[in-house]
Amino acid sequence: MTSSGPKILLISPGVLRPMDLDFGLPHLVSIGGYLRQHLRARVEIIDLCYEGGDPEHLSRLLTSLGPFTVIGLSCYSSFDYLRCLAVGRFLKRLFPDTPLVAGGYHASALPEDLLFDGSPIDTVVRGEGERPFRQIVETLLGGGRPAPLYDRDLPEHLDELPPYDWALLNRYWPRALELGRKLQVYLSRGCPYHCTFCMERAKSGYAWRAYSPERAVDELKRLGRFTDLSQWVVNLADPLFGWQRAWRREVLEGILSAGIAPRQFWTLTRADDLQEEDVSLLARSRFSIGIGLESGSPKMLGIMQKGNTPERYLAAIERLMDLSRAHGLNWAANIIVGHPGETPETLRETHAFLQRLYSRAPETGGWLSVDPFRLYPGAQVHEQMTDWTRRFGTQFHHPEWWKSWYDGAFRAQHLEPSAELSYADRVRFMYDAYGPLVADIAARFRGQGRNVDRVFERSVTEQVTLLSPAQRDIHLARAARAANEKSPAGAQVSVSFPLGLNVRDPASQQRENAVRRLLEAGVLRSAAVVEALLTIDPAPFFTPAERDALLSDAPPPVSAEGVPLRVLPVRWVALALEALSLAPGDRALDLAPATGYFAALLRHIVGAPGEVVSTTGDATRPAGVRGPFDAVFLGVGAVPAWPRGVLRHMHPQGGRGVGFIGPRFRPQDMVCVVRHGEGEATRVDERVLARLRLPAVAGVEGWLRPAAR
Ligand code: SF4
Repeated sequence: MTSSGPKILLISPGVLRPMDLDFGLPHLVSIGGYLRQHLRARVEIIDLCYEGGDPEHLSRLLTSLGPFTVIGLSCYSSFDYLRCLAVGRFLKRLFPDTPLVAGGYHASALPEDLLFDGSPIDTVVRGEGERPFRQIVETLLGGGRPAPLYDRDLPEHLDELPPYDWALLNRYWPRALELGRKLQVYLSRGCPYHCTFCMERAKSGYAWRAYSPERAVDELKRLGRFTDLSQWVVNLADPLFGWQRAWRREVLEGILSAGIAPRQFWTLTRADDLQEEDVSLLARSRFSIGIGLESGSPKMLGIMQKGNTPERYLAAIERLMDLSRAHGLNWAANIIVGHPGETPETLRETHAFLQRLYSRAPETGGWLSVDPFRLYPGAQVHEQMTDWTRRFGTQFHHPEWWKSWYDGAFRAQHLEPSAELSYADRVRFMYDAYGPLVADIAARFRGQGRNVDRVFERSVTEQVTLLSPAQRDIHLARAARAANEKSPAGAQVSVSFPLGLNVRDPASQQRENAVRRLLEAGVLRSAAVVEALLTIDPAPFFTPAERDALLSDAPPPVSAEGVPLRVLPVRWVALALEALSLAPGDRALDLAPATGYFAALLRHIVGAPGEVVSTTGDATRPAGVRGPFDAVFLGVGAVPAWPRGVLRHMHPQGGRGVGFIGPRFRPQDMVCVVRHGEGEATRVDERVLARLRLPAVAGVEGWLRPAAR
């Protein structure tokens, strides 16, 4: 490897639910290895889930690794969409001249979501990344400019790809067992089936392709040289493992004869083609399998295009139940509740089938995972929503749910499945019928008497918790709120994004949660303020107790008169920032800055072309500052009236000020004042933002000193 090759950063923006973390990023490892092999590229892979610290830490890290010829950003699922954009903006600020390429399921399904005017993304790759990414780098090396969109260019034979270069994760291997629950690798790609809810087709079309059986086994051996596989549940994350019977058996026999023995293999497959020999091989090679059953209703299976012969498909599941018990194979069936076209009758039919299935014997080696239908871009349902509405009366409430970063999980599943079945009835049925069933399965679940049973037991009990009445009520209440949001009088909040960069850092999570609450309450409305609150870490400005007070939103204890507050609840901070409505390039004045936190927020919003001035001393008579300012904050205590000395520094054409006005010892108003005009013609509009209680810091004579009490 020479030092003159292109330098490439591949970055995963992280997932929203850290508990689901898989370790491995095999899609990025494969692309990185391919670029190393063909272009002698130097490749760095960064997973933001695994990076500690805040944006400043990441700036330092990425700057020390760069500069880069090109950066690839994984927009894997629609749940990652906004995070991907936020990270894209962050990267663009850091490396303004470096092309940014996005790929993944969401990018493949809806490239236009990433290629709008003002997007930080320059190019989108549809489908699998190896070949198009190589073309992009070659174009750049030749002095050209990559096209905005590269269409699918899939490797026909996976053996043409270089071996997984797991050394690309050397940065993370020493901590891998702390970072992930499962170790992820692909041995095949694509799926030939046409299930209506599945987004697989957006990325890989309908062609199933696999490494040759020998190569597949070699890849597992290679993985075993980087980590002790006996410590891991190895997730063969193929969309459909072992579609071809001969391939499946050769791989399983190869695993057995090579003695590859992780704690457990986990993979998704179909039951239709599993014979006794397969079940025995799977059990002996330490597999547990997930089966996408989806429904127990032949009618729904037909609607979902799960197969041409639903009855045979259901019979195969029953056969698997019996064979797995005989051979000691653990498995989980997954069902989807509330797919478009679902009715109360099909719901009951599925539930009755599952009750029969799981009570065929006193013990069960299978468990049940119950999911609501979720609308995924790239799935046939999403592409043909109008047809589904026409056929079944389905109502999709949030056809672009992924653009709501704080509420996406709810919106993805919020739809009326059919004219006969409402969202609320679907929710009630799902929790009321399946809660008791999964609890019964949990009680009768039989593991394999090995330490891996703990993994299964956790999955089984997770299902019981997820299907509790408390969860049901949360979903029903959220839907009721959504109905109000749509009423003309309701406050529809549609802030279009951003978020912190490190989902595992508790301090970042605390900040995200505070912002989430303010969004839901309708306090936050602009992306710039949301981004500032998420980006500026309060830690350097406050003690830990003060930071908790800021983010927990508790009203501050009223300290002595004349003593400015050090901490305002984040709600007041947000109200003030929204009212000041600053834009990049504006000038802002922070009067009486107690800690510097508010000034840092202002600085983030006005950016490099703007200016923030802080003063100390008597805030009612600021000395030594040169106006005019677009916005002034006087927010650490109450004053009897908006000070004339401050008004002079506000821009005569719409300069804004936020402060607390009112008497001593009684509640005051948080107000926004706006100046119009100059001299005699000056007019001041005043708007009350909130009523609250603070210590007075000024009287009619000016700034109060604590000694003057
Ligand atoms: S749900 Fe499974 S079987 Fe159906 S198309 Fe997707 S990957 Fe294939």
